[in-house]
Amino acid sequence: MSYFRDNVEAMEGYQPGEQPRVAKFIKLNTNENPYAPSGAVARAIETAVTQGLARYPDPSAEAFRQRAAQLHGVEPNWILCGNGSDDILTIVTRALVGEGERMRMPYPTYVLYETLANIQGAIYDPIPYEQDWSLGDSFTSGTDGLKLAVIASPNSPSGTVIEPAKIAEIADRLPCPLLVDEAYADFASSDCLSLVAENEKIMVSRTMSKGYALAGIRFGYLVARPELIEQFAKVKDSYNCNALAIAAATAAIDDAAWLAETRGKILATRDRLTGRLREMGLAVTDSQANFVWATHPEIDLGTIYNDLKALQILVRYMGYPGWNEGLRITVGTDDQVDALLTAMTALLA
Ligand SMILES: *Cc1c(COP(=O)(O)O)cnc(C)c1O
Repeated sequence: MSYFRDNVEAMEGYQPGEQPRVAKFIKLNTNENPYAPSGAVARAIETAVTQGLARYPDPSAEAFRQRAAQLHGVEPNWILCGNGSDDILTIVTRALVGEGERMRMPYPTYVLYETLANIQGAIYDPIPYEQDWSLGDSFTSGTDGLKLAVIASPNSPSGTVIEPAKIAEIADRLPCPLLVDEAYADFASSDCLSLVAENEKIMVSRTMSKGYALAGIRFGYLVARPELIEQFAKVKDSYNCNALAIAAATAAIDDAAWLAETRGKILATRDRLTGRLREMGLAVTDSQANFVWATHPEIDLGTIYNDLKALQILVRYMGYPGWNEGLRITVGTDDQVDALLTAMTALLA
């Protein structure tokens, strides 16, 4: 006999990427930004500490909402802040999807969506991508009991986007809200933010973890219509963003010059990494994120993953039953990527 709800007992917990505690590893497995965040972040944290941490933080992180709203051309009441965008995904799922109801997403994608559906006791409803990482009509058919659809764009592990015009078309055909998870939008050439005002079914989530190099701070946000934000705010933890995170995220989002420079470096390295891997005979998608997805028709990439790990280079191996297997490689610094390319060249020789 178990004390737990059946769905909790039956589910597998979400497995985050490895975080080795020894510093020697070249870590290209969890899509962290390899560069230090804006210098304004450390100063803002110091100021927040000086001002004291005895009081509870602002429950709605108003300072951040105002800056994010300004940046995106909406009012602050279109923004909901979270303890990472994982928290935003939890809040949205919790508010929209009940037991026995259906939550849809493409496959393969970010594995956390499945975990969140399982926690709700909801029906996890993955729709396979086409071979070219586009979405077919099946994504919008058979929608009985469907309460939420989530599309990561750029997607992980592929790095590919579903173009905004297509997202709008999909939303129009769905009976429920569509959350576009834009964790990697800072590296992409298009995004769906302007659709939020145009289409009442579309919501967009963003994170400070990837583009702004603040994964350790835990800060993300949702952009949605105020009447939706109001409902979501009911189910969040009262103080879901801590005072240091609010200070750090607010300082970071204000530093547009830092973002532009870092983005430029990462995109240049991404192009170089993509080109070299293709020269080695790997198939690499045109990534719009800070990682690349590499597959090979013959070589066992699980072995390559292990051989790289033995050399203290960590990438992510992903095998999707019935679909594909490949290596997801984060775009690191030029030095890190050079070390990876040297190792791969030797392993594939
Ligand atoms: C990294 C990632 C997130 C989570 O970001 P946090 O803000 O660090 O919680 C969400 N969605 C996708 C697709 C991601 O890759």
